[in-house]
Amino acid sequence: MVAYAISPPPQSYLDITGSDDKFPVRRIYCIGKNYVAHIQEMDQDERDPPVIFMKPADATVRNGGEIPYPVFTNDFHYECELVVALKSGGYNIPEAEAASHIFGYAVGLDMTRRDHQAAALAKGLPWEVSKGFDHSAPVGSITRIEETGVMATGHVRLQVNGETRQDADISLMIWTIDEIIAKLSQQHALTSGDIIMTGTPAGVGPVVTGDVLECSVDGLAPMQLRIGGPAA
Ligand code: MN
Repeated sequence: MVAYAISPPPQSYLDITGSDDKFPVRRIYCIGKNYVAHIQEMDQDERDPPVIFMKPADATVRNGGEIPYPVFTNDFHYECELVVALKSGGYNIPEAEAASHIFGYAVGLDMTRRDHQAAALAKGLPWEVSKGFDHSAPVGSITRIEETGVMATGHVRLQVNGETRQDADISLMIWTIDEIIAKLSQQHALTSGDIIMTGTPAGVGPVVTGDVLECSVDGLAPMQLRIGGPAA
């Protein structure tokens, strides 16, 4: 038993549909550039391989609720994405075994300071400041794979104040979930508690204080998120 000199930070966790048990979050991996139409709207080369980046585990926000409009941005964007939660992992997972490591699926938002992402890209700098900030990873309730089956199709949708902004089928992902897990595990030892944001389809855009976002993926619990006033 370790005696900590200060109180240890709380463990981040997510809800599980139909259960009081919680899913502890270790790492948040994110995939960028995984839908052709989104790559085109960002003026990027659709033949480039997908980008892998991380958010801190404590950036999760359970089931939406309300998040403050973040500091240090004037262009705060939503990216609605299918999230995959892992129950096990390892290095060099073969694609054929990838699904055996999946605990379940959820809908999530890769919230982005787009102004700083654009600035970082222009200068060739790391883009953590645009992706890995407080409250930047709202994730809905996880539905167990035993209930969903292995997911390969289904629409991911986002509405802002009742108006549809994103609507695409996850079958349009350039890299499939099996391929993402295989590729990630070539770079990192995946483990239980890791979640993966699988990339956003086209239609990303800004939100402002007072906006209400509704995110859904067919077959999963939807998530509502309200953008509150400026972060203190
Ligand atoms: Mn994203």
